Amino acid sequence: MDNKKLASLLFPNVKGVDYYENKYKKRELKEGAYVTRFAPSPTGYVHMGNILQAILDYTLAKQTSGVSIVRVEDTDDKRKVDNAVDVMLSTLKQYNLNFDEGVVASNKSIGEYGPYYQSERKDIYQSYAKQLVEKGLAYPCFCTMDDEQQIRESQIKELGEHALTGYYGKWRKCNNLTIEEIENNLKANKPFTIKFKSQAKSLDDKIEGEDVTRGKLSMQRWFKDEVILKSDGQAVYHLAHIVDDYLMGVNLVVRGSEWLSTYPLHIDLLNALKINHPKYLHNLLLCKIENGSKIKISKRKHPECLMSFYEELGYPMEAVRDYMYTLLNSNFEDWRNANPTADINEFKVTFNKINAGEVMLDTAKIDNISKNVISLMTAEEVYNKFLEYTRKYDNELFDFVNKNKKYVTGFLAIDRGGVKPRKDLCKISEIKDKYHYFFNAPKVDFSTLNLDNKIIKTVLSEYVKIFDIKDDKETWWNKIKTLAETLNFATDNKAYKADPTKFNGNISTLANIIRLSLTGETQSVDMYGIMQVLGNAEVIQRLTNAI
Ligand code: GLU
Repeated sequence: MDNKKLASLLFPNVKGVDYYENKYKKRELKEGAYVTRFAPSPTGYVHMGNILQAILDYTLAKQTSGVSIVRVEDTDDKRKVDNAVDVMLSTLKQYNLNFDEGVVASNKSIGEYGPYYQSERKDIYQSYAKQLVEKGLAYPCFCTMDDEQQIRESQIKELGEHALTGYYGKWRKCNNLTIEEIENNLKANKPFTIKFKSQAKSLDDKIEGEDVTRGKLSMQRWFKDEVILKSDGQAVYHLAHIVDDYLMGVNLVVRGSEWLSTYPLHIDLLNALKINHPKYLHNLLLCKIENGSKIKISKRKHPECLMSFYEELGYPMEAVRDYMYTLLNSNFEDWRNANPTADINEFKVTFNKINAGEVMLDTAKIDNISKNVISLMTAEEVYNKFLEYTRKYDNELFDFVNKNKKYVTGFLAIDRGGVKPRKDLCKISEIKDKYHYFFNAPKVDFSTLNLDNKIIKTVLSEYVKIFDIKDDKETWWNKIKTLAETLNFATDNKAYKADPTKFNGNISTLANIIRLSLTGETQSVDMYGIMQVLGNAEVIQRLTNAI
């Protein structure tokens, strides 16, 4: 077969690979610098797996003074979703992952190695496919979907249910067509794909690969002839990513572990194209236990693996990000415990600490981290999160939060800071429920206190008389104490415990009468703080209402 002739027959107007190799200059990099790329397909979902990869791409490039690229892998029209690129980019932005190069807005790219949408790189892929045909490593295949289906069926019939199915061995139909047959098919306008010839000598043939976190890998060599260009002339992932990574100067490929199984095919393609192998890092696989067994997390069945899930519920991004770092690097938690408020960029991601394999997605852990993260924020920071959250999800509340910055920041500041900050908020969306009494006067029900109504009334009437918003905390507390003594509430817990019948209750019961009147709750943040934030008029009003 004259492969050169075949190649020009199939690709009459395609530029040679030299053109692209001259066009895209070799990058000048510092020693050890990584050029990485985040290569999402615009499916409309932003999975935690995507952002885990993006974090690695971004930080490993940043840490080594390299380059991080965003490339959109949109060659599969069936999976494309409108708006998906914007959603992906805005998630990257939310997580402060500001990539250096590539797609920065759905209609804007920066960098010298574009286009950064694969759908715009068809000519480039054809050039490399043509080269493979010229070398006798690829050929046109005219099999239809029906033909492929028939092949599968006959393989199962002959080899049994567990047969290795696919285009290989004696089942291949188009690997030895003559140039005349091919010409006739082309003249008849028969659609064709381009298949890459398997380089395996037998089904037992092995190939060596290497993964940054998994080490050396010995894998079964790819035994099937695989489609590299579809019948519309567009490349499939296998060819497209190899050509792109090569021309864009990528030297570290971080991708999902679902690509490990086709890695042997990629090794053969790299060799066939005589392209330097980049490093590969197959990222961890998110799993969960369901009905007692471990299963792979799926974006369709498990919303907790989608980034939008956390955003909509009001988890701060810092919490979700910290959680993701605990999945990525085994020493992150120790670092975070030692540096609770440090900027995450100070943490060094190191290859030998990157987790490989399966990890369990643990939402209870995210909750814990989130409580911690929120507890360490300043009131102002929580306020800003609250403002942003309500801006997006609750117009009415947004209006209130926006107009009452001092008031909202004031109540968020209660019990914040210090060595033991309170950890009562897991999500920003809980603020209104947890602190409902700062938004609305409470419904008050004293029945849980088991006290005579007359005593309650006396406590409140007397307290209104002595309450003064200007009191400092000590004076304020002394007044409550004096009131307790006057109205026969024990101020000494031992004495109370020795004989409770002697008293109307102890001082905390009395404090709870006031607390209930102000908040409707028997537990709340610091009561002095509550009063200071509510202000004189509101405190008097609530006490009077309760009376
Ligand atoms: N577009 C592929 C995906 O979304 C990317 C794989 C890769 O990073 O190479 O899975």
